[in-house]
Amino acid sequence: MVSSTPRNENRCVFCGIVARRSPAWIVYEDASTLAFLDIFPFTRGHLLVVPKRHGARLTDIPFEDQMALIRSLDELCRRAERLTPDYNVALNAGALAGQVVFHVHFHIIPRYGGANPFRATARAPLTEADARAVVEELSRP
Ligand code: AMP
Ligand code: ZN
Repeated sequence: MVSSTPRNENRCVFCGIVARRSPAWIVYEDASTLAFLDIFPFTRGHLLVVPKRHGARLTDIPFEDQMALIRSLDELCRRAERLTPDYNVALNAGALAGQVVFHVHFHIIPRYGGANPFRATARAPLTEADARAVVEELSRP
């Protein structure tokens, strides 16, 4: 079976956020990358780090964008450590691997102990109160 990798930039939700056509809780931006809060967070502070230029997968984007993405991933991991030293970094490539947004992105998922968030059956939407507090904490350089 071949997994699907849609490439429609015009209807891409993350391109919409990059272009500011869609709202997001943005915590970091530079010339070629953006980081914002996941609207269905596994845990408090769940972040997504994306290249501004559209590509479905890491292997679809130019080397320079890959390097910029890793640089931003490092920066956002450092900031996430303000919340907790423990976190997962994940990249889902392809529908069979759980990718639902086909614009390459790294997840940073802070871990605080307790129940395994990956086993949860339902994920609660991001609340405005949490979003404001996390953006305040993580948008600081
Ligand atoms: P993936 O399964 O790796 O493709 O994950 C896509 C992630 O994007 C999911 O965790 C969604 O909750 C998240 N997501 C989808 N739409 C938005 C949005 N408009 N703003 C922020 N996060 C989103
Ligand atoms: Zn896109």
